[in-house]
Amino acid sequence: MTRVFNFSAGPAALPLDVLEQISRDIPNWQNTGMSVMEVSHRGKEFIELAARSEANLRELLRIPKNYSVLFPQGGATLQMAMVPMNLAGSGSTADYVVTGSWGKKAAGEAKKFCNANVIADASDENFTYIPEESTWRRSSKAAYLHYTPNETIAGVEFHFVPGGTVPLVADMSSTILSRPIDVEKFGVIYAGAQKNIGPAGITLLIVRNDLLEAAPNNLAHLMTWRSYAESDSMTNTPPTFAWYVADLVFAWLKKQGGLEGMAEINRRKAGKLYAAIDDSGFYSNPVRKDCRSWMNVPFILADATLDKTFLDQANAAGLTNLKGHRSVGGMRASIYNAVTEQAVDTLIEFMKEFERNV
Ligand SMILES: *Cc1c(COP(=O)(O)O)cnc(C)c1O
Repeated sequence: MTRVFNFSAGPAALPLDVLEQISRDIPNWQNTGMSVMEVSHRGKEFIELAARSEANLRELLRIPKNYSVLFPQGGATLQMAMVPMNLAGSGSTADYVVTGSWGKKAAGEAKKFCNANVIADASDENFTYIPEESTWRRSSKAAYLHYTPNETIAGVEFHFVPGGTVPLVADMSSTILSRPIDVEKFGVIYAGAQKNIGPAGITLLIVRNDLLEAAPNNLAHLMTWRSYAESDSMTNTPPTFAWYVADLVFAWLKKQGGLEGMAEINRRKAGKLYAAIDDSGFYSNPVRKDCRSWMNVPFILADATLDKTFLDQANAAGLTNLKGHRSVGGMRASIYNAVTEQAVDTLIEFMKEFERNV
């Protein structure tokens, strides 16, 4: 078998155990004589899957009872519009903290629906830091505060949860399930699946129940969080295959020791990769040390003319998808939950070897 070490930012690596389970399940899922893609989402087996996945996710993230867990489609990007549609009717104001490209996109989308006020913006230093919370110019009356705990492109991450009294809305696409979080501090959490949850096509949304009531009645059914909450996310046909894989990933996470177990592994993986970068005279990471991402590690080579050689040799060594985002350049290693410590060790060895040979 020739599996590579996949450092893609998304869609990203999935656990091998999960992939093997999928391949066993495909022809005859749970003795239905059909694959999971062919069964009714209203059938007993799928209803059980939906309930089990929610229960496991609630256990993993310790989601309190007064929060709904919803699985819409449309990815994180659709939630960038659904957040203002559901929480901030026209004329109202919402605060946005912009620490990277995704936060900027979220603010841009919100401007179509409400008065989106960018209260802090780290673009002045190319998104390499988190502006001090005391400098944020908060609106006097905001419907919510939106931020991006982990910015996937520049690899900059909040290692604290912002304070204040307005509901916090967090785009956790690239950090969800990488460690425990205190859900109670948030009003809304959303995440596209294709980084740490499963395949693209399903979206995770966690909403405090009182916030479900804020949406106007004239929103389209599928744009209204409340309708997902009232139908167990079966407002229309859900993305059944993606949901099935997410269910397997949640069960896999429980077997790894839950999010405490994952946090320990992820801290170690990120720690050793940053140490290798910092200890070398050849690689560097531009992000301020106290806001470096555990999940996305960008690094640049001292000589950019060697980028292509680095990527070619990495690919030949079975280390794939290391090319950095065009806005940052250089390399980026995304080391989500399913990227093993062995993958990170192999990458570090390769980097050292490459440096010795230049
Ligand atoms: C990948 C990503 C997105 C985009 O997700 P889609 O599911 O493709 O819409 C948004 N925000 C963050 C932080 C991301 O990492």
